[in-house]
Amino acid sequence: MDGIPDSSTEDIALESKRLPVLAITIAFLMVVTISILSIYGIQVTNSKAHELEQARLTSGNLALSIAQQATDTFDEANLILEELIERLDDQSPQALEKTQKLLKKRVFTTEQLHGLFFYDQQGRWILTSFDYQPVAANNSDRDYFKFHQENVTLSPRVGAALRSRTTGEWVIPLTRRVNDAQGHFKGVVLASIKMDYFDKFFARFNIDDQGAIFLALPQGTLIARRPFDEKLIGTSLAKGEIFSVHIPKAPAGSVMVKSIIDGVDRLFGYRVLYKYPLVVAAANSRESILSSWRADTYKMTAMIAVVLLINLLVGILLFKQVRKGLRVENHLKKARAVLETLVLQDGLTGLANRRHLERNLELEWLRASRQRSSISLIMLDIDLFKSFNDHYGHVAGDHCICAVGQAISQCVRRPSDLVVRYGGEEFAILLPDTEPGGAYVLAENIRLAVLDLAIEHTENPAGLVTVSLGVYSCVPASTEFKSLLMQADSALYMAKRAGRNQTVPTS
Ligand code: GH3
Ligand code: MG
Ligand code: MG
Repeated sequence: MDGIPDSSTEDIALESKRLPVLAITIAFLMVVTISILSIYGIQVTNSKAHELEQARLTSGNLALSIAQQATDTFDEANLILEELIERLDDQSPQALEKTQKLLKKRVFTTEQLHGLFFYDQQGRWILTSFDYQPVAANNSDRDYFKFHQENVTLSPRVGAALRSRTTGEWVIPLTRRVNDAQGHFKGVVLASIKMDYFDKFFARFNIDDQGAIFLALPQGTLIARRPFDEKLIGTSLAKGEIFSVHIPKAPAGSVMVKSIIDGVDRLFGYRVLYKYPLVVAAANSRESILSSWRADTYKMTAMIAVVLLINLLVGILLFKQVRKGLRVENHLKKARAVLETLVLQDGLTGLANRRHLERNLELEWLRASRQRSSISLIMLDIDLFKSFNDHYGHVAGDHCICAVGQAISQCVRRPSDLVVRYGGEEFAILLPDTEPGGAYVLAENIRLAVLDLAIEHTENPAGLVTVSLGVYSCVPASTEFKSLLMQADSALYMAKRAGRNQTVPTS
C-alpha cells in the first residue's frame, strides 16, 4: 500500500537463485566421483577378462602338449606290443626264450614300461619280461582279458589303473588281442606302463599348487593324476562338468569348472586323444590365475580411494566456499534492499518520502498517459501547525504528524495508491487510475479521519487539529508531470485561503 519493497519476498527470490549454484557444485562432484568409479570398474573388469583369456590359451596349450606326450608314450609301448605279436607266431621253447630276453631288453631300455606279458587263451602266463612268475598265475579275471576275449578288434586298449601282480606297483595296462592264423582268439599281450612315469612326466609341466593334471579313460575313470593321491585312482569323473557337459560338445577346449574332487575352481584345458581312448586335462586354479590381478586391483583400489578422498575434501572445501560466497552475496543484496528502502522511506512516520513520490510520479503519469486513464494527487497540510508546536512543544508536534500519517494510511486501501510525507507537516497521496469524484471523496474521508483523531489544538478555531486538502485530477496529455504537483499545491493554497479544514478539488 505504501509501496516500500517487502524484504521477505526478496529473500525468497535470493534463495531460489542460490540453489542452482550449490546443486551444480554437488552434481559436479558426483559426476567426477561416478566417472572415476566407472572408469576404474571398466578397467578392473577388462584386466580380469584379459588375465582369464591368457590363462585359457595357456591351459589349452598345456593340454595339447601333454596329449602329444601321452600319445608318444603309448605309441612306443604299442610298437613293442606289435613286435611281440609278430614273434608269437613261433612259440617253440627256443623262440619263446629269445622273445623273453627281448622283452627284458625292451623294458630295460623303455623308461615308461613296467613290464611286458603274453597270456594264452586261458589267461595263463606264457611270457613275461620278469625273471619270475607268481605261482599258477592266471590273468583271465582281468577286465582287459575279458574284453579281448569277447571283442574281435585288434586295436590297442588302455585300461583302468591297477596294481601289478608281480611288483604291487600302480600300472596302466595297454593291451592287444592276439589271434591265431585262423583269426581265433589266442591270447592277450600286455604292456604295463608305470603310473610313476606319468607322475614324473606331469611334474615337468608348470602348474600352481592348487593346479591339477590328469589322465582318464573316456568314460571318466581316473588313471593318473598330479598331485598323486592313491585314493583317487580309479574314481569316476563322469559326473564332473568336463565329462558330462564339455567333452560331449567338443573334443578339446578350455573351461572354468569346480572340481568334484576337492571343490576348487580351476581353468581346465582338456583334450580327447585321437589315437587312444584317453582324455588329458591340465588346469591352474582360478585363485592363482587371478592372484597378480587381485594384488594389482588392491593397490589400484587403495590409490583410487585416496583420489576419491582428496576429491571429497576438495569438494567439501569448494562447497563451503560457494556457500560462503552466496551468503555474502545474499547479505549484500539484503543490505542494498534495506538501504534502498531507507532511501525511499520517511524516518519519522515510516511512510514513503518525497524522493519515492518523485520516482513513482513520473512512472504513473506515463502509464496513465498510455492508458488514457485519470490520475489524481491530494496535497494535505496540517492547519496552524506552527502554533501547535509553539503551544505543545516539538515532541508533541512529531506525535501529531505521525498520528495524521496513520489516519491517512488507514483511509487509503488500494495497493497502487502511495501515501507520502512530502515534508514538514505536509503529505501527498498519489492515486493512479482515480477519477476526480473518487479522489475528492477520499480527501474528505481523510479530513474527517483527522478530525476524528480529536487531537487538542487550542490555537485552532476548531479546538482540534484539522487539515486542509487540495485535490487535482487529470488524464495526462502532453503536459509535464510536475504540473500535477503544482496544481494540487495551488488547490491546497486555495483551501487555506478559504478558511482551512476543508478540501478544494480542481481538475
Ligand atoms: P498553515 O495553516 O498556514 O499551514 O499554518 P502553519 O502554522 O502550519 O504554517 P506553516 O506550514 O508555515 O508551518 C509549518 C510548521 O510546521 C513549521 C514547523 O514549526 C512545523 N514543522 C515542520 N516540520 C516539522 C516536524 O518535523 N516536526 C514538528 N514538530 N514540527 C514541524
Ligand atoms: Mg506547511
Ligand atoms: Mg501547515
